[in-house]
Amino acid sequence: MNQSIIEPPLASVYDLYETVIGLEIHVQLSTQSKAFCSDDARFGGAPNTHLSAISLAHPGTLPRPNRRHIEFAVRLGMALGCNIQRTSYFDRKNYFYADLPKGYQITQDRQPTCMGGTLTIPIGNAFKTIRFHHLHLEEDAGKSLHDTDSRFSHIDLNRAGVPLLEIVTEPDLRSGEEVDALMTAMRHLVRWLDISDGNMEEGSMRCDVNISVRKRGATTYGTRCEVKNVNSMKFARRAVAYEVRRQIDLLEKGGKVIQQTLNFDPQTGITTPLRSKENAHDYRYFPDPDLAPVRLSDAFLAKIKAEMPVLPTDLRAILIKNYQLSANDALILTEDKSVALYYQQLASVCPPVLRKAAANLVIQKILPFLQTQNIAIAHYPIAHTQLIDLLQLIEDGKINASAAYQILLPALLQEPQSSTLAMAEKLNLFQNTDTAWLETLIQQVIAQNPDKVTAFRKGKKGLSAFFVGETMKLAKGKADPKILNTLVMRFLNT
Ligand code: ADP
Ligand code: MG
Repeated sequence: MNQSIIEPPLASVYDLYETVIGLEIHVQLSTQSKAFCSDDARFGGAPNTHLSAISLAHPGTLPRPNRRHIEFAVRLGMALGCNIQRTSYFDRKNYFYADLPKGYQITQDRQPTCMGGTLTIPIGNAFKTIRFHHLHLEEDAGKSLHDTDSRFSHIDLNRAGVPLLEIVTEPDLRSGEEVDALMTAMRHLVRWLDISDGNMEEGSMRCDVNISVRKRGATTYGTRCEVKNVNSMKFARRAVAYEVRRQIDLLEKGGKVIQQTLNFDPQTGITTPLRSKENAHDYRYFPDPDLAPVRLSDAFLAKIKAEMPVLPTDLRAILIKNYQLSANDALILTEDKSVALYYQQLASVCPPVLRKAAANLVIQKILPFLQTQNIAIAHYPIAHTQLIDLLQLIEDGKINASAAYQILLPALLQEPQSSTLAMAEKLNLFQNTDTAWLETLIQQVIAQNPDKVTAFRKGKKGLSAFFVGETMKLAKGKADPKILNTLVMRFLNT
């Protein structure tokens, strides 16, 4: 007997439980200098070259907040609808680790700069709003390299002191899929706002995934475990899948989940304990005596607000409502801010009837071209007006769409300076709408295919396409398809 037929039990014990997840997302902000000194904050560089006495916390050095760090945090805070605090503070989080030269991390504990906020993300065909607890500013630690040398661990402190923003969600997520969707939306947003490159491979964005399970219908949360430093959506999904199963198995055997910090190993796909969960008091948080409170002026906040780009969700709504694009087209066009801006500019100089065609042109022709040529949309060689002329020629039936896209557009890409009309003329693409000429061509095709004419008249109506196709061949593709179609039907039906 086939195994798969008897395998699935009626209701799995796993279905009796609900997964509860909260994320702590760390985003590295793309400022030029570090959070509390002027050292280079860029990724990479020879190990231990982006360093000064301040990053190393030598005695007598003093940290100084980075204005851009605060500005970027507020920009994201405003985009998420957070409550921006006029006064917030820096605190020290103390712990000992070889890659932490100060022996403490500067962070925000008592009063973070941004409180609350939400982000609405697509889940399947629906939307879900995820709430944030707060967003706080902090600095990164250095990096330990354990596998470059068989005898020693090495430490690179270039990353020590780089500005981070930690985004803490409420425990609103219910699956690995939702984690993926939130991380994807957050990466899109930080790129849109130009505050981070959102590059997970380089560690510019990573998250700690807090996972617990509870019986469906329960009103209190179960004990959670925290999977540290997950740096890909795929790993996040796998870590959630593994951890949920582990916790349910444990509970079903009558055991208890112990609050722990875990490491996920992508090689084996399992989580292992790093340490039992530390509590806040283990870090001996206290106000950083070297740093004054962060006080945000009206002018500072007003400037950030004024410079805020249209947010992707708002822009999508505009494209759908004002430009009559489909939700899917709007999604594709807002994938990347530069593409969205390009389309908006193109559409703003375009007659309204051509806006949908302009969206198709960008999605189906321009984006694939940019991809193969590896160029930015701002450098697309053909001017807006020339593109609009091309769309207008198709719309007016003066040239046919396949000639426009397969012959005219490539020719314009070769010679972007020439005008669309001149090029269409030169390539002899204008359609012939001379009906007398078309009629002689149709008559030729009919005369050559008497059996097919008979078959058509006996009911094989699909044969009309054959006559249209043959006539188009004789016309070398330059007949207006609408006119041709009408004429063919008239001949066949008389
Ligand atoms: P801590 O500061 O000790 O790490 P928090 O209470 O601030 O703990 O929570 C950290 C993260 O854990 C937040 O994203 C929060 O949503 C999430 N979280 C809290 N309780 C649970 C739970 N029972 N299950 C899953 N996630 C949780
Ligand atoms: Mg935490």
